[in-house]
Amino acid sequence: TAKLLHKDASEVIKKLISLGVMATINQELDMDTILLLAGDFGVEVEVKIPVEDDRFETLEENDDPADLEVRPPVVTIMGHVDHGKTTLLDTIRSTSVTAGEAGGITQHIGAYQVEINHKKITFLDTPGHEAFTAMRARGAQVTDMTIIVVAADDGVMPQTVEAINHAKAAGLPIIVAVNKIDKPGANPDKVKQELTEYELVPEEWGGDTIFVNVSAKQKLGIEELLEMILLVAEVNEYKANPNKRARGTVIEAELDKGRGPVARVLVQHGTLKIGDAFVAGNCFGRVRAMVNDKGRRLKEAGPSTPVEITGLTEVPGAGDPFMVFEDERKARSIADKRSITHRQSELNSNTRVTLDDLFNAIKEGEIKDLNVIIKGDVQGSVEALKSSLAKIEVEGVRVKIIHSGAGAITESDIILAAASNAIVIGFNVRPEAQAKLTAEQEKVDIRLHRVIYNVIEEIEQAMKGMLDPVF
Ligand code: GDP
Repeated sequence: TAKLLHKDASEVIKKLISLGVMATINQELDMDTILLLAGDFGVEVEVKIPVEDDRFETLEENDDPADLEVRPPVVTIMGHVDHGKTTLLDTIRSTSVTAGEAGGITQHIGAYQVEINHKKITFLDTPGHEAFTAMRARGAQVTDMTIIVVAADDGVMPQTVEAINHAKAAGLPIIVAVNKIDKPGANPDKVKQELTEYELVPEEWGGDTIFVNVSAKQKLGIEELLEMILLVAEVNEYKANPNKRARGTVIEAELDKGRGPVARVLVQHGTLKIGDAFVAGNCFGRVRAMVNDKGRRLKEAGPSTPVEITGLTEVPGAGDPFMVFEDERKARSIADKRSITHRQSELNSNTRVTLDDLFNAIKEGEIKDLNVIIKGDVQGSVEALKSSLAKIEVEGVRVKIIHSGAGAITESDIILAAASNAIVIGFNVRPEAQAKLTAEQEKVDIRLHRVIYNVIEEIEQAMKGMLDPVF
């Protein structure tokens, strides 16, 4: 190491000791220490680690279109707090138990399936956009469409707008469920009116958004909502190949006292079978038992089926990819490799956009839109910023505002930024403590300003590659 830094060994060792690292002359240093040392000597190091390509995407062979079959849609419910997400999930679940499955014991396995007109729909049963976007930030795409719940007696609220923007950032179709229509103060038309501002325009007003009036509590409109979900699914033709080894995503996982590590997974491709050897995140396993959301033991589970499995050696993380391999040896070796490369790829994970490297990313064609989230002290200044940013013209790149609002920068903003490769601008506001921590972890660039002109200038210069480096 000393030679590489063009320093002599004693100098390096002295520096190391001053940094609190005890080292001898022949000792190998780990990457963190080397980076620390280099920084201290003012030397730039380029980290080149041979990360072996063991990402599941590259291990996956492509499907012949002829092998694809229709699969159930996977749906997430989002909306403002207290607008009825949980009630709606419960009502859908309890009203749609099919005859053959009545009597089963409801299991909470992170998702459930219902059947209507002999067609299935899978619901993820953790409501809210935070959980959804946190998974997306980890690269997990599990949802096909979102139901935005809006209480008809309350109307569009800040988290409604957040939910809409999170769904839009994921490019998902949206169905609006106008809830609580049983309430005396309910005004569904007002909700429709308010949502036009967010480009959710009902068909009868010339738009293409499906609105369904429901009462989750009185069980009104539920069947219609489910039919609309099937309609959207039909239009989008969600398909998968059931005849191959399974692949999917871990929805939740925990250590069970009796059964050891259990993982609740959504099978997305192929069919999962008892005895299959698999990798989930960095964990290895072999499917010992499989239970569905009705508490029934399954021998196999096809695309869009949520199942709880046992037979893991460790507890994987929510959002971890899951994949079956031809035999135990292969699965074991992939899991080992993944746990080694995991730390290395964390070191290399700084692929998120920052203003400082924006110009290079534009030049190399990596970015065409600069995704931006704006938070400001008052709605007026947010609107002013939005329209000024929209006017910036730099060849080859556009500013795209994926979310904006009044109030402090929240963790939810940061997670959205991480999932959408966006930067966050705070205008006369600061990040909340948790948001700041998450931003550091996720390497999300936050820019705080008090003058609109400065924001515009900074963004413009970054786009042109003229930003003064910040030290
Ligand atoms: P969440 O925070 O969005 O999950 O909302 P909840 O499902 O917990 O519902 C919040 C409150 O609204 C609860 O007291 C529910 O009983 C009530 N609620 C939910 N749906 C309806 C509805 O359709 N009609 C009426 N009157 N109340 C409802």
